[in-house]
Amino acid sequence: MFPDPDRSYIDLRARARQQVNRGLLPARVVETLTAGYGSSRTECCLCGQVITPVQVEYELCGAGCESITLHIGCYAAWRDECLERTGQQC
Ligand SMILES: [Zn+2]
Repeated sequence: MFPDPDRSYIDLRARARQQVNRGLLPARVVETLTAGYGSSRTECCLCGQVITPVQVEYELCGAGCESITLHIGCYAAWRDECLERTGQQC
């Protein structure tokens, strides 16, 4: 029994939509992005779990709010959510 990666992506997308609706995450893709390893002190803004030093951490800046840190998988879910929204609006 392995966890289904598609299932977790769907969960993350649902969570991303909720966070964007609440204004907790920006509703469009932020250009300023740095990638590095986690510090065990930073929590992911999407799933709420700590990003450990063996995991890649994405940090978004310039979103008009404090910096946002995400796991790489959480970043992908949030980015896809933003792209879908902006695509629908234009
Ligand atoms: Zn996460």
